[in-house]
Amino acid sequence: MKSRKDALAAARQEKFDLCVIGGGATGSGCALDGQLRGLRTLLLDAGDFASAASSASTKLVHGGVRYLEQAVKGLNLEEYKMVKTALRERQYMLANAPHLAHASHFMVPVYSWTRAFYYLVGMKMYDAVAGKSNLFPSSFISRDETLRRMPGLNAKELRGAVSYSDGQFDDARYDLALVESFVEAGGTAMNYARVTAFAVDANGKLSGATVRDELSGEEFAATAGKFVNATGTGADKVRALANPQLPSRMRPSKGVHLLFPADTFPGKDALLVPHTEDGRVIFAVPWQERLLVGTTDDEVTAATRMLVQKDEAQYLLRQLNPYLQASLRLEEAVSGLAGLRPLVAARGQTATSKLIRDHEVETDHASGLISILGGKWTTHRRMAEDTIDVVQREMGRAAGGCVTKHHPLAGSSGFNADFSSKLEKEYALPADVASHLSGKFGTRALGVIELLGEDSAWKRRIAETLPVIEAEIVFCIRQEMAETIEDLLARRTGTQMYGWKAALQAAPTVGRLLALEKGWDPEMEARAVLEYSTKIRGYLRELGLREV
Ligand SMILES: Cc1cc2nc3c(=O)[nH]c(=O)nc-3n(C[C@H](O)[C@H](O)[C@H](O)COP(=O)(O)OP(=O)(O)OC[C@H]3O[C@@H](n4cnc5c(N)ncnc54)[C@H](O)[C@@H]3O)c2cc1C
Repeated sequence: MKSRKDALAAARQEKFDLCVIGGGATGSGCALDGQLRGLRTLLLDAGDFASAASSASTKLVHGGVRYLEQAVKGLNLEEYKMVKTALRERQYMLANAPHLAHASHFMVPVYSWTRAFYYLVGMKMYDAVAGKSNLFPSSFISRDETLRRMPGLNAKELRGAVSYSDGQFDDARYDLALVESFVEAGGTAMNYARVTAFAVDANGKLSGATVRDELSGEEFAATAGKFVNATGTGADKVRALANPQLPSRMRPSKGVHLLFPADTFPGKDALLVPHTEDGRVIFAVPWQERLLVGTTDDEVTAATRMLVQKDEAQYLLRQLNPYLQASLRLEEAVSGLAGLRPLVAARGQTATSKLIRDHEVETDHASGLISILGGKWTTHRRMAEDTIDVVQREMGRAAGGCVTKHHPLAGSSGFNADFSSKLEKEYALPADVASHLSGKFGTRALGVIELLGEDSAWKRRIAETLPVIEAEIVFCIRQEMAETIEDLLARRTGTQMYGWKAALQAAPTVGRLLALEKGWDPEMEARAVLEYSTKIRGYLRELGLREV
């Protein structure tokens, strides 16, 4: 990736065909698609890339078995089509970044034969809707086999499980891979760059944006022929900047997850809890040496806070624990995530859990702003395709020429299942470090290893319990526009998800490396470490968890 300084210079000086606002999954996907179709594209995010919903998901590449159930029960063709599209997109997402996404077995435990029949029929329908893109066929698994694969399940009256397939992925790194691929294709991406106002031409159409550099506080003007608003739950604000007459469309809903040590519920397969108090499903999925449990679905109100609250954590445990032999306790949680789903309002619907996760491309003909609203991570590529088709039409060109279905993302070229052991052997790396580097960076991990030639001390781990080495931090500062401790620990390395306590231990080392690379003075370094640590301690305190 270009340095942020170079990106800033380009954003100020160049005239772009397209400016995409928002560097989450949707915006990064749009920017990549636009640039690959030959549009000179600028991508701006008000915070870090993937710092909002796109790093707070359940990390499933899926059509959604619950959405299929809703579609069938409600005879809802629109929802059925959404599931079908997502299942088709699932295969592109898995194929384009094999280091970041993989197929998994999901198990639905059953405690009555009627339920077993119901879920098996449902999962066979899921297979059928996926058609050629199905990953592997669903099946009924006997009680013994279920308990062998998931020894932590509540065995009382267990009949067995229905197993089906879906994908899992590393959401934050997938977003970063989209941004990296966009930059490799010649695009300009800049984080901490907030669009605060628009400029218009003689016809009232958007021709420029005022952008605030959130790190320096300075403002600059960016010029582009077309503007795409891909700001997730922020979409209404940007729509209002372009045209104050536009009615609000977004209906955000909050979802949280908790992470536990993997051995609290051993096994390789993911568990789907088929029924919750509020008629949804929740997941307990093995994810990067942890068990990820989630999620909630609560309408956002003025009182909503962006962290995992105790009542939300207790809700998750209440839904999951009846399915476990030994109940999980809140004190065992090591980390958590909170995010807002960018759902689009639908007439006559009440609960956010019932809103369809479909997307909509809206063109405001007065200002020319094109907004991409709603959707989900799994469909980000298709959302981008639909959006850039509209951009082309609005430019007076024929839509088409999308190539992202089969566009391997940064880090995937030359990657295969043996890549981690190759790193381990050729570079004498500990197995956990090699596996972490290969899983996060794919073949770009070689760039991290190359840095060891500059300073062999960078082979040190940033905290004793972590597979993250100092060279990885330096690489992300130099090559991935990481600007803060949180950029590095939450999104670039995944440390914050692995554990809040581990993140607290690593923060001083990461602060020192940031200070070295960026020329910060000791006061700035100390402030950065203090700010980050205070935030993490707040998360621990909220759930009543101890720091040591
Ligand atoms: C709890 C939860 C679980 C989920 N699980 C799944 C799942 O398992 N599978 C799945 O497919 N989907 C899942 N989703 C949905 C998925 O995460 C979201 O649909 C997707 O991440 C939305 O991406 P986005 O880019 O539209 O929005 P965001 O990721 O929110 O990105 C919007 C970006 O716009 C930026 N922005 C806002 N205003 C401005 C401005 N003025 N100037 C510049 N930038 C701006 C923000 O900083 C932000 O980075 C889940 C969502 C949640 C919340």
